[in-house]
Amino acid sequence: MDKLNQRILKKDPQHMFFCEFCGSKVPSYNQDFGFCYFCELGVSSLEEVLQRYPDFYSALSILGKGISEAKWGNAEKGLQKLLTIRESPEMDYVAGVFYNHYSDYMYANRDYQYLAGFREPNADNIKAGIELFYKSKEMFYKAIDSANRILQANGHDEQRLFVKFLSEFRLKRMVDARQTLKLLNEVSNGATSVYASMLYSSTMHSKGSFTFIKQLTDMGIVNSFYYYARFITSDGNLNEAKSILVRLLSKVNMPRAKSLLQGIQEVQEIL
Ligand SMILES: [Zn+2]
Repeated sequence: MDKLNQRILKKDPQHMFFCEFCGSKVPSYNQDFGFCYFCELGVSSLEEVLQRYPDFYSALSILGKGISEAKWGNAEKGLQKLLTIRESPEMDYVAGVFYNHYSDYMYANRDYQYLAGFREPNADNIKAGIELFYKSKEMFYKAIDSANRILQANGHDEQRLFVKFLSEFRLKRMVDARQTLKLLNEVSNGATSVYASMLYSSTMHSKGSFTFIKQLTDMGIVNSFYYYARFITSDGNLNEAKSILVRLLSKVNMPRAKSLLQGIQEVQEIL
């Protein structure tokens, strides 16, 4: 199989964007745009521009800081504020992504060191994890619903189709996601459409996904390295995947990359 050019990850990112939806600081090797490593929406804003809107910026910073430190309870305060300031399918979608991570975190925090017979906190953590998981699904459905309403009223546009696609994709509604991807490809032939195609094809384990990954890497999109690592992991190329993830994590604090790396290390310990 072809290899991906990894030289880019040896350099420092050229730009630091600030995700206007989740407050994450997004390193990019492309000077015009990037894709947020947390919510995956397109980003092109600089922090100093968003600082001109103090209330919005403050809520965004609380959310972004909480996400980067995995302090989900703190982050949620910023998210709740943002949902009141900015009603949009993008915000509903970000809430979906957020509650999904929060749910995983609660579920992973079970502790089996407690003595049998005691009412341990596990039951509470599991219950909270399940509630957050359903909250996440609810927010993705809400995002799809409001994107649909806007698309019907204003016609097709790239951003709304992308957020609808991402929500369907996260809900694993692949038939709908495929339909939306087709519409997205009709209105966009740029990075957004390539990114969505990469997500779709990589989940379908299509070999063609490498072409999309490569295109994105050539555009300087950092997230593509995570998908490349995942792609070669499924081919059993664990050492190379590990070295890419270590390099990627030195640039960006991406939770999915961390858990993939952890998964690879656990497998290698067993083998
Ligand atoms: Zn984001």
